[in-house]
Amino acid sequence: MAIIIDGKEVAKKTREKLKNEVEELKEHGIIPKLTVIMVGDNPASKVYVRNKSKACNEVGVEYEEFFLDSSISQKELLDLIKKLNDDKTVNGILLQSPLPQHLDINEAFRTIDYRKDVDGFHPMNVGKLVLGQDTFVSCTPYGIMRLFEEYNIDLCGKNVVILGRSNIVGKPLVQCCLNNNATVTICHSKTKDIKEVTKNADVLVVAIGKPHFLEADMVKDGAIIIDVGINRLDTGKIVGDVDFENVSKKASYITPVPGGVGPMTIAMLLNNVIKATRQQNM
Ligand code: NAP
Repeated sequence: MAIIIDGKEVAKKTREKLKNEVEELKEHGIIPKLTVIMVGDNPASKVYVRNKSKACNEVGVEYEEFFLDSSISQKELLDLIKKLNDDKTVNGILLQSPLPQHLDINEAFRTIDYRKDVDGFHPMNVGKLVLGQDTFVSCTPYGIMRLFEEYNIDLCGKNVVILGRSNIVGKPLVQCCLNNNATVTICHSKTKDIKEVTKNADVLVVAIGKPHFLEADMVKDGAIIIDVGINRLDTGKIVGDVDFENVSKKASYITPVPGGVGPMTIAMLLNNVIKATRQQNM
C-alpha cells in the first residue's frame, strides 16, 4: 500500500512559515498585497477566488479583488492591469481565468508587470523557467515540486511521465522536472498507446481532467503517482484523474483528491506573493 502524500499538511506547514515571513516584513513596515481580477460570473472561479482570499487573510497578506462585468472591453481590462502595475502598494496581480471569449487573455497576461506576475504566466517568467533561471513558477507545478521535496523524492535520473500539456500545469512542470535532472515524457490527447508510456514511469503526474483515467494496469509497481485532476461527479463527489483505490495498491507514493495537490497550489501562490514583495522592496 502506498504512502499517502498529505498535501493538506504540507500546505499548512508552508502557510505557517509564510505567516512568520509576513510578520518579519511587517516589522519593516512592508505589507504584502495581492490583487485578483475576475471577469464575469463563473461559479468555479468564485470558489477559487474565495479560497485565495481566505488563505491571504490567514497569513496576513492584504487582499483586494476586482469583480468586472462580463461586458467589459479589452481596453478597460488592460487599463485596470496598468493601474495595478503602477500602484506601489500592490505586489501581486492575478487574473482569474477563464475570461469571456471576446477578451484576449494572452494580451492581458502580457500586460501584467512580470515582477507582479505571481501566477507565473507572463512570457518573461515562462522563458526564465525554460532557461533554468530564478522566476515565478506557476503555482500548481511549484506545489508538486514542493511535495517532492517534503517527501525526499529525488527526481534525478528518474523517468517522469506527465499526462496533460496545459500551459498552467503540464508544460511548466516539464521544465521543473528537467531542471531537477529527470528524464521527462509528456503525453496528450494525440499520444498513441499511453499505457506503453505510463508503464515505464517512475513518477507519473496526471493532469487531464478525466475522472479515474489512470488505472492500475497502466502503472508499474512502486511508481510515484501525483493526481492533479479535480473532477466533480454527478453525485457531487470530487475525484481526481486516478483510480485511487486500485492504483494506491501498486504505487509507492500517491496524492489523494481532495487533500493532495489542490491545497499546495494556493500555498505556493502566497509564497510567490511574498517573494514578489521582497524583490520589489530590495
Ligand atoms: P486542460 O487545459 O483542459 O488540459 C488538459 C490536457 O489533458 C490537455 O493537454 C489534453 O490534451 C490532455 N488530455 C485530455 N484528454 C486526454 C486523454 N484522454 N489522454 C491524454 N491526454 C488527454 O487542463 P488543466 O487546466 O491542465 O487541468 C487538468 C486537470 O487538473 C483538471 O481536472 C483541473 O481541474 C485540474 N487542476 C487542478 C489544479 C489543482 O490545484 N489541483 C490546478 C489546475 C488544474 P490536448 O492538449 O491534446 O488537448
